[in-house]
Amino acid sequence: MANIPKKIASLVREHDSFRHVPNAERLSTDELTANGLYKGYPCPHGHDIRLLDNHSCYLCAGKIRDNICGFDLNYMQEEYKRKYADLWSQIAVGDPSECWEAPGLTQKRICLPSYRSLYARDKSTNVTAHKAIYQCAWGDVGALFVTRVCGNKTCLNPLHLVSNWNRLFPPSVISPFDYAFQPEKLMQYQQVQDANQLKVLRERYYKCTIQNPLVNQNNSDYDSEYIQYYQSEWQETS
Ligand SMILES: [Zn+2]
Ligand SMILES: [Zn+2]
Repeated sequence: MANIPKKIASLVREHDSFRHVPNAERLSTDELTANGLYKGYPCPHGHDIRLLDNHSCYLCAGKIRDNICGFDLNYMQEEYKRKYADLWSQIAVGDPSECWEAPGLTQKRICLPSYRSLYARDKSTNVTAHKAIYQCAWGDVGALFVTRVCGNKTCLNPLHLVSNWNRLFPPSVISPFDYAFQPEKLMQYQQVQDANQLKVLRERYYKCTIQNPLVNQNNSDYDSEYIQYYQSEWQETS
């Protein structure tokens, strides 16, 4: 894994365009526009505020900036979950530090709803399997690209996938990570009417792992952040 942060550093450009907007979900259309946001098509995680410039889901972008990789398939938006269940059934899920291969999906385009679904006649868009999996595990990044940092073309381990929103050091685990249907959870999802309750269900096992605690400066200079991290890692092991 030691080579991965270096690769992320070359792929993830510095992101100063993510701006926290207090109570974004409660703003009027005009207030959203004034903040570079709009109310759009719901993302797989049930959010509907998007960024005007790249259509990324606003709350998912915040989740990725918080370095949270995790999802529970049973609590995801209805129109996405069957497709994701089908994708996950084709992935050889293994140790979080290894590549998870899915050769059958390498060339495939996956038909899923997207930000375009709000105004397009065709309600689904074709995306690559790695973008589909990224949006499931990390979040909906709209028109942004998703890249594999391990360089393995058949790998679909979400911890090896990044977009411009990612931080330099990925978390060590995906949490929550439930990628199969469970009848009791599906029933629970059906019974929850209140949006806040659903939010609690979806987020209760999120692991907030902003970065290695030894990297105490949120430094915009990736090289010095990298050196700081690996020097401390070296000190711990020597
Ligand atoms: Zn979202
Ligand atoms: Zn990989």
